[in-house]
Amino acid sequence: MAAQGEAFEERISEFDDELASEFSALLGVNALRVLKRQDEEDHKERMKMKKGFNPQMRSEAKRLKTFLTYDTFRSWTPQEMAAAGFYFTGVKLGVQCFCCSLILFCTRLRNLPLETHKRLRPECEFLLGKDVGNIGKYDIRVKSPGKLRGHKARYREEGARLESFENWPFYAHGTSPRGLSAAGFVFTGDRDTVQCFSCGGCLGNWEEGDDPWKEHAKWFPR
Ligand SMILES: [Zn+2]
Repeated sequence: MAAQGEAFEERISEFDDELASEFSALLGVNALRVLKRQDEEDHKERMKMKKGFNPQMRSEAKRLKTFLTYDTFRSWTPQEMAAAGFYFTGVKLGVQCFCCSLILFCTRLRNLPLETHKRLRPECEFLLGKDVGNIGKYDIRVKSPGKLRGHKARYREEGARLESFENWPFYAHGTSPRGLSAAGFVFTGDRDTVQCFSCGGCLGNWEEGDDPWKEHAKWFPR
């Protein structure tokens, strides 16, 4: 996956030919030229913006919050956009996908955000349903306990717990395996779910800045 801040920007058009001919008929002008110019302007704006996977916007609830200052006289609702992976960038009316970093400026076309996302970035791993760490609106931190891999007794050792994090997912790197294992957690191998070797409690959906000790105490008080 591309690192954030990468300059490459593929040319896209948010407008389709059908829309151009409809506009032309409606306004009696050659709308294609107007839309082409708009495409050009949008492309320049996109070039300046940050690209790459944005782990801070994995949470749908967080994405939804970015729309607090958004102009609401648009046909796409913040709920639809957040569910389709988008958050508000604050640059013009641009919204961006947390996973593939697609930026859209025109958010009032007839197609739904999810459809436009699919048309322009069919390869987006979030759309393909891969585990990219999306945290759905109704997703919670506590996970149902599974069975620890290997013998429970060996995880009394912090070193053994740390070793279990070998394939810790890329999107959860904001929470360090060192901190998690120090707080008693073992990586279960499923998404970013960890389990306490002592009380057996399971937690997932880690976000940057989360404190494993505090989360442990909060959800599984002794
Ligand atoms: Zn995407």
